[in-house]
Amino acid sequence: MRTVAVLGATGSIGTQTLDLLRRYPDRFRAVALAGGSRAEPLFELVREFRPQMASLVREPEAIPDDLRFCQWRFGPEAAQRLVEESGAQDVVEAVVGVAGLSCAITALNCAERLLLANKEALVTGGHLVMGLSKKLGKPVIPVDSEHSAIYQCLKAAQGNPVEKLILTASGGPFRTWERERIYNATLAEALAHPTWRMGQKITVDCATMMNKGLEIMEAGWLFGMPGEKIDVAVHPESVVHSMIQFADGAVLSQMGAPDMRGPIGYALGEPERLPYQAKPLVFDQMTLHFDAPDMEKFPCLRLARQAFAAGGSAPVTLNGANEAAVERFLRGGMPFGRIAEAVDHALEKAAPAAVDSAEDVYAADKEARRLAAEYLADKN
Ligand code: NAD
Ligand code: MG
Repeated sequence: MRTVAVLGATGSIGTQTLDLLRRYPDRFRAVALAGGSRAEPLFELVREFRPQMASLVREPEAIPDDLRFCQWRFGPEAAQRLVEESGAQDVVEAVVGVAGLSCAITALNCAERLLLANKEALVTGGHLVMGLSKKLGKPVIPVDSEHSAIYQCLKAAQGNPVEKLILTASGGPFRTWERERIYNATLAEALAHPTWRMGQKITVDCATMMNKGLEIMEAGWLFGMPGEKIDVAVHPESVVHSMIQFADGAVLSQMGAPDMRGPIGYALGEPERLPYQAKPLVFDQMTLHFDAPDMEKFPCLRLARQAFAAGGSAPVTLNGANEAAVERFLRGGMPFGRIAEAVDHALEKAAPAAVDSAEDVYAADKEARRLAAEYLADKN
């Protein structure tokens, strides 16, 4: 029996993690559930899973009487308190945004394994997270589907050096649209992802293709690869989850239906697979396409590559400006194309800085958000 803390329990990854835990009650016990601001959905989960501890970023007016068996923590750092105090062996870290960085660091310090969905932690503090993982000898197991695919393929590499990682990308809802039409896309259009159902922030990131830019950095940190050795292939069917290429030209890929319970289950059960009634692939009814990404239509991908190459605080600036611009876009009334412009503006204006600690990350993040807000205020 392994004890599990789920951070971001009410979100898309969190609820799919709990779907798996529900199927394997003899193998996993949810001992801690951390939510954000919405109390009701967390109350429901606590009622069902009966964890020892639970937390919310925003303290609710009251805790229902039947949920007082659980120890509650509140505030922006409450998820970290859960990891410290619950003694969970595994932490599924599925908080959204840069707030996940300190959660990842705390998980490495306190738990046995970090099962990481939150890519922003690696984008902004990849060297801190991976450095700590190495120092403490504790694994960071990827939950993001592309990175789980690569992680699974690497087990078959048998020590052969990998020449290249090939990340697949669905291309999002605007893959076939013209540039001007993309610029003025609405919120509803950006949220209509063709293959995956996810939280709103990552769904918008898929539409700008910033998500793939963030994933290049995530892969770079997880697998120790420079940006030049990480290619992107647009693959609208989302069946090939990613690939690795060797010196002899051989390529290994991992495939499956687009369902996050695959990679989440792999991280939980590794090296064992956890069946969850996945939809099987039917090869005689399938045509797969691969194409190069269009950097003109999706400037965020280009900006992310530039920021990764520049290093230092540039990825933090890119990520912070993107988070601020996406939050603003999600409130409505802003043209989609201004997300990329706000990120570009922040990267132009921010002074490069060294990032040696989580505090440095949060300082650069704050400045990036200020710069993005300044740009968007000018324009609106
Ligand atoms: P989501 O918005 O659906 O859920 C986020 C969860 O985090 C919610 O439960 C929210 O209440 C909680 N939360 C937010 N801030 C918090 C804080 N400070 N402390 C504790 N909890 C907090 O997002 P999601 O789609 O589940 O994505 C979560 C992370 O996983 C993101 O980094 C995303 O990029 C990554 N990811 C998601 C998917 C997917 O299919 N959804 C796939 C790959 C990677
Ligand atoms: Mg992904």
